[in-house]
Amino acid sequence: MIQVGFIKNIDFKMTKEERREYNKEHYKKNKGKVNERSREYRQNNKDKIKEWHKEHYIKNKDRIAERSREYRQNNKDKIKERSRSYHNKNKDKIKEYQKQYAQSGKSKIARSKYYQNNKYKILKKNKKWHNKNKDKIKGYQKQYTESEKFKIWQSKYFQENKGKVAERAREYRQNNKDKIKEYHKTKKYRVSITNTRHKRRARTKQTDITTKYLLELKSKTSHCEICGKKLKDNIHLDHIIPLNVGGLHIKSNIRYVHAKCNLQRPKNGSDIIQFRLL
Ligand SMILES: [Zn+2]
Repeated sequence: MIQVGFIKNIDFKMTKEERREYNKEHYKKNKGKVNERSREYRQNNKDKIKEWHKEHYIKNKDRIAERSREYRQNNKDKIKERSRSYHNKNKDKIKEYQKQYAQSGKSKIARSKYYQNNKYKILKKNKKWHNKNKDKIKGYQKQYTESEKFKIWQSKYFQENKGKVAERAREYRQNNKDKIKEYHKTKKYRVSITNTRHKRRARTKQTDITTKYLLELKSKTSHCEICGKKLKDNIHLDHIIPLNVGGLHIKSNIRYVHAKCNLQRPKNGSDIIQFRLL
């Protein structure tokens, strides 16, 4: 009964176009009222609307995906620009969101789920990336392990986990006896021991000499740096300015010489020091 007047106003023979026009006019005239009513409706029917959206999405999934794909295809630059400007305007907000999300359980679950579902793909991709960036990664790692930050972290870690570290080392030694025995026979091990010993004697924590550098220097030196004759078996690492008179265990102060030549040098390095003072 109440609807009679309402129905009377609408001509049901209107075409689609006409009805759209009619609706538009009606909306223009009653904007405030319509908006208010629809806001109220949305407020009171949240769940229903959500349900409807969900249903609509499920029913039209393919069409929606297709349409949005098309849109992205045709508006690449626009989308890029829009996202860039959004990012620029909301930097802090985004950072905060990301931080919150990263700390949430949700992200952990999502990540592990994603990992489980794409394990093979991820591993393959990682491997490819690693292979492509080998030198870069090595450089980063070296930079990091030589950094002050890492050294501080490392010594703090050792201090706080002394027992654990010792236990782990003991276990490793126990389980790798043969491997360790083999390692102790290598040139690399002997050179690294030399390096450590000299470093300790020089009382320097800072040195630019690595085991790798020593191995290289050794293989490059074919003649004794003191007498100039060919080097054979008995070779010593010599500090030009001896450690016991304050010489440093650094690249610029070392050379490979005959053991005999090394032992014949005066212990205080007066052969070199006097020469330098002249
Ligand atoms: Zn010599």
